[in-house]
This record gives sequence, structure tokens and C-alpha cells, in this order.
Amino acid sequence: MNIHEYQAKQLFADFGVAVPKGYPAQTAAEFDAALANFPEGTVVVKSQIHAGGRGKGTFTNGYKGGVKVVKSKAEAKEAATAMLGNVLVTKQTGPEGRKVQTVYFNEASDIKKEYYLAILLDRGTSRPVIVASTEGGMDIETVAENTPDKIVKVRVDPAIGLQDYQKRQLAFALGFKGDLMKQFGKLITGLYNLFWEKDCSMVEVNPLITTPDDKLIALDAKVGFDDNALYRHPDIVALRDLNEEDSKEIEASKFGLSYIALDGNIACLVNGAGLAMSTMDIIKHFGGNPANFLDVGGGASKDAVAGAFKIILSDKNVKGIFVNIFGGIMDCDVIAQGIVAAVKETGLTLPLVVRLEGNNVENGKKTLATSGLTIVSGDSMADAAQKIVKLVG
Ligand code: ADP
Ligand code: MG
Repeated sequence: MNIHEYQAKQLFADFGVAVPKGYPAQTAAEFDAALANFPEGTVVVKSQIHAGGRGKGTFTNGYKGGVKVVKSKAEAKEAATAMLGNVLVTKQTGPEGRKVQTVYFNEASDIKKEYYLAILLDRGTSRPVIVASTEGGMDIETVAENTPDKIVKVRVDPAIGLQDYQKRQLAFALGFKGDLMKQFGKLITGLYNLFWEKDCSMVEVNPLITTPDDKLIALDAKVGFDDNALYRHPDIVALRDLNEEDSKEIEASKFGLSYIALDGNIACLVNGAGLAMSTMDIIKHFGGNPANFLDVGGGASKDAVAGAFKIILSDKNVKGIFVNIFGGIMDCDVIAQGIVAAVKETGLTLPLVVRLEGNNVENGKKTLATSGLTIVSGDSMADAAQKIVKLVG
């Protein structure tokens, strides 16, 4: 789960990390009240969407820049009016962009230098890794590609936490001395505590800046959380913004399904994450393109299968469906009944290929064969994949 910059900065402040003063507004009526918190002069206006690259983004109405540094409150209101309710396209949103539903006014900071700082989970070592660079403010991927030596990584042993020598190592790498080193120690401690205590998958500050009077400030904030740990953090769940999530993925989570939308045209309905991934691979292998990742889980009910069908069919790109079930825990006949019910209920006209294997498979196949529906049966995964690719054409 991701949150907005204004929410992330509130968390930063709670953990003692220095951020610019800021006030969000969800409606134009709130602009004046939010701006009343600033003295007349320079203000920063920031579009709130769950994607980066806003500064260099463009709105579909032609307005340039999802982050604007302006010289007066009147200009701030003008910029906020241009942003709110409009669709911002950035490098990270894809061409369809995201509608801005919150504008965040920030105190402007004088920037001496921009840095990059992030904490992520390093799956290779199963440890949090702190990534830092003197090349902040820009695409970290570009820095990693062109000048990898300008990125330092420090891995933290979660059993003992972030150590003072590691904080110094990072501060040296970024060139912070004296009071800046002290400020950095406090900042990285706060960010690490946030990452650890709130079960984050990512904490990113780009840019982290120094001011001409040597203050260290987090100018941008991006925080993501591990979905599997959200049950421990009702305060974080309360920050969820469903406007920012794929409606199909929200619907899937209601049925306990793991669904991820992709851009192909062959929908997959599979039990088990590993089988779901190899199903996508085999579709690709035979020249097709998967429309989604969908794991109905080990013990899906008839209702969940029917729900899964409806979610799949709400994707207009879908031209065919591949059901691939291995009945280990699952009874193949329950799945078959769910498929038949869903096909009848949705009046499905798209090609459907089903491959069933395992527990009670004979009865499952019989249910499909005697349903009176045009369901193509696959004898093996490869056979079924080839059939659906051919039918979709
Ligand atoms: P994004 O990463 O989505 O483009 P940022 O919050 O990083 O958005 O803002 C883009 C750029 O705007 C920053 O790199 C910085 O140069 C400038 N900026 C952002 N916030 C402020 C601020 N409070 N004061 C001055 N400049 C800012
Ligand atoms: Mg940024």
C-alpha cells in the first residue's frame, strides 16, 4: 500500500525527521485557509498522486508541472486551481495519468544541494538496505545506470538495528560534517525507525536537501507498506486512498483474491501464486500476452470463482480466458461448478480454455462437459496455453 506525500511527511515529522511546513487542500474552498498559514511570498504547490516525477509532469489540459514554486499566494491559488481535479501524466503514471484530488502547499526552501536517500528491503540478504547518493533530485535509476559508483548501500542487521558506525559511514559518503552530520544522524535514525516500526516496504526521500544555512530537510517523501503487515497498523490503513488503486484490484481483495492487472488480452484464473506465474510464462512462451495475474488461493469457494470471473471480464482488453487449476487442496469439481455458474451468470461469449488436474478431476471434467457450454478443455498446461493463444488469435 502506498500513501501520499503529505501523509508521508506527517509520518516523517512524527519520527523526528525535518520536513517543510505544509498544508493539504482537497477542495478549492480550502485553498485560502491553507495559504493563510504562510507569509506572503514564495510557496510550493504540489500535486498529490501516488507516483513520482511530478515536477517534470504535464497535465492533460496542457498545464506544465505537477510541482510549482511560485512567487505569491495569488499565483499559488492559480497553480492549485490548474492542478486540482485534472489529470497529471508523469514518467511513472503511464499515458493515462492520475487525477489530482489533493493539492499540498509547502513552505519553499532554499536549496544548496540535493541528495537521494532511501530505505528498502534487500531480498537478496533479507535485510533492510539504505541507499544514498549525492546525486539527488533526479531519476535514481539513471544515476544507477550511468554512475553506479555514486550510490552507496548499507545493509542493516535487523536483530541489532542501525548502528552508529553505519550512520557515520553514510554521512561521510554524502559529505556531511559537523552539525550536518549530527542532523543526518537524527534524520536517518527517524527514517529507519519509521521503516521498521510501520513495516514499510520503502521509505524514499528524493530530494533530501541542504539549505545555504546548513539545515537538512526532506523535501519529498514517498512511503510504501508491506500489505501482509497492514493488519498490525490500523493507523496506516486509515491513510489508504482507494482513488489511487485499480478498481479491479480493490474488488479482488474483497473476495480474498490476489489480482494484478496487466496489459495483455488473455485473462488467467489460477490457484497458487507459483502456478499463476508459470501460467503467465507459458502464455508468453506460445506468443500470447497475459491480461492479469490472478491467484484464487488454495481454498476458493464457488462465489470467489464467480467473483474472479466478473473482475476478469470488467477488463475491456480481455479477449479470452485461461483457467489453470491444480487441485491439491482444492476440489476440481467445486472449481468446475464455479466456472459453469459464472459463465451462465455473465453470459460469457469469449473463448474459455480450462485445464483441470488433481483432486476429483474426473467429476470436474464431467461437470464442464455436461454443462452445455462451449468450454474448451486442455489436456496439459502446454496444450491449454496453445489452445487459448490460438483462439484469441
Ligand atoms: P517529484 O519527485 O514527484 O518530481 P518533488 O517533491 O521531488 O516531486 O519536487 C520536484 C522538485 O521541486 C524538487 O526536486 C525540488 O527541486 C523542487 N521542490 C519541491 N519541494 C520544494 C520546496 N518545498 N521548496 C523548494 N523547492 C521544492
Ligand atoms: Mg521527488
